[in-house]
Amino acid sequence: MLEITCPWCGPRDETEFDYGGEAHIDRPKDPDKLTDEAWAEYLFMRKNPKGPHLERWMHACGCRRWFNVRRDTFTHEITAVYRMGEKPPGDGA
Ligand SMILES: [Zn+2]
Repeated sequence: MLEITCPWCGPRDETEFDYGGEAHIDRPKDPDKLTDEAWAEYLFMRKNPKGPHLERWMHACGCRRWFNVRRDTFTHEITAVYRMGEKPPGDGA
């Protein structure tokens, strides 16, 4: 069982959270000007790495807030939790 630390509520069981997919995917500013291929790229194409992955989670059974997590998709180790709008810790930005 995965334990996820909500930035507002602290450590909680994985069952309290909803997974929201890959983090840091910005909606195109003017989608009407995109080609079908570029729109499909935005909608469907994700990195799906084996290893560290930046992803969104929501504390559905708690504060219901969204936040970001860096989780290794192979070991499930969580190495960072940070709020929406923040950059991942340790990325040098
Ligand atoms: Zn929470």
